[in-house]
Amino acid sequence: MHWIDEIDIRLKENWEEQMSLWYQETLDKEKLEEKAKEVRALLLDPDLSDRIDTFLNREENLAKKRKAEMLKREVIRAKVEYNKKLFQLRSEIEAKADEFLPFIKGKNVNISEMSKILMRNKNRNLRKEAHKSWKQLLGSIEKEARESIRIANKIAHEQGFADYPDLIFSFDNISYGYLSDLCSRIKRDTEDVWDGFIGKCKKEIPDFQIHDLRFMFYKFFLPPDGYFTKEKMIDSLQAFLESYEIDFNSLFIKIETQDRACSGGCYNLKMGEDIRIAYHPVGGYMDYRVLFHEFGHAIHYHYLPKSFLLIDDPSFREGMADIWSGFIDTKEWLQKFTSLPEDMINTFRNAHALDEALRFREFIKELFFELELYNNPEANFEKVWQSVSKEYLRIDDDSGIWSEFVFSAPLYMKDYIFAKLIKNVTFRFFRTKFGNIIGNKEVIEFLIEKYYKPGNLVPWRKKIEKATGERI
Ligand SMILES: [Zn+2]
Repeated sequence: MHWIDEIDIRLKENWEEQMSLWYQETLDKEKLEEKAKEVRALLLDPDLSDRIDTFLNREENLAKKRKAEMLKREVIRAKVEYNKKLFQLRSEIEAKADEFLPFIKGKNVNISEMSKILMRNKNRNLRKEAHKSWKQLLGSIEKEARESIRIANKIAHEQGFADYPDLIFSFDNISYGYLSDLCSRIKRDTEDVWDGFIGKCKKEIPDFQIHDLRFMFYKFFLPPDGYFTKEKMIDSLQAFLESYEIDFNSLFIKIETQDRACSGGCYNLKMGEDIRIAYHPVGGYMDYRVLFHEFGHAIHYHYLPKSFLLIDDPSFREGMADIWSGFIDTKEWLQKFTSLPEDMINTFRNAHALDEALRFREFIKELFFELELYNNPEANFEKVWQSVSKEYLRIDDDSGIWSEFVFSAPLYMKDYIFAKLIKNVTFRFFRTKFGNIIGNKEVIEFLIEKYYKPGNLVPWRKKIEKATGERI
């Protein structure tokens, strides 16, 4: 076996073991550190980079070359992401966020309870209390979060990059300028919808505040829960798959409901052979969105090459998940798989522009919060958060509640932004090329053959351009 394939297999096993650790209810930090140590031993061998370069100069086979390029990138990534101190800080932050129980109405509740209050409770004071309950967690991680920024920047600098974002963007072949222009364009395109929404909110709640945002959004957006029951959810996914002649039981995917902190996750425990979806349904449309998103991850994993180096990049992976949650927003899906009356389908579909505006703007807000901190690690978190909230949401958020997510999954917001763009490009292509999307086998064949099976053999932008003719 070729030495690159040997390393690939060891990385694959290591990745599966890390997945299994994250899949457990409580994270075993010691075991996780052992796995990180293995990656360091494997990739930070001083001779490895030279070996890869020599191979790249000689090798003609494109697939082999691509794997070697990906390995070279993993070496650079490992220097930062597996730096002992940084790895510990980030897993510490994530573990604390996972274990955190907000204190609301005199007792500790789980995070889904807190989200439910923010989404649906008519009592503004209670919503405010729920929003502020996050403060305790933030207080306990701020020091680690700031330290993680300093360390990430320092290592990136040693690798010859301006800062940590510069290093991460180089993997995607993008620059800060490109991303910043893209976000400005999205902001401009969603301006009218967003202004209209904020105007309506202020009419109803004259001193509209951040803890009213989710409540007002869902009030305009959500269709009635009764049409999206927990009981029918799995059946509707299976029936949907059957419309493409896919037997759910023939896939190596298991769905488990769990009373977990987060709304859902997909764990590729054995690459393409044992894939688990764990989620926590609370009732209503959003459960379906989560399930279909996670299923999108799962079916992508199912068809990917069984190689660590050929796993698609995060932006593309999130895009594959968003395509599946996109299916349930089509008129045909709603008509065929729910009993939602025609007028409600139309109202719901009209609210999608607002959904798009909110998601994009929240992602962009968090991304620029992060970028500003990498640019100035000594900045006051709360002030930076307040300024990006004003800029992207038009809300003066002085609650001091910033996003902790960006510190355990750094710069992941850019992947969510790209994911939505990938979904939009792909749906446009489906509409013009295939017309019908739901129950049309050409759609699934396209996804499997053009998107899933090649994995990262083709860089994701090229893959999309080749398949759809559109560029992102
Ligand atoms: Zn996802």
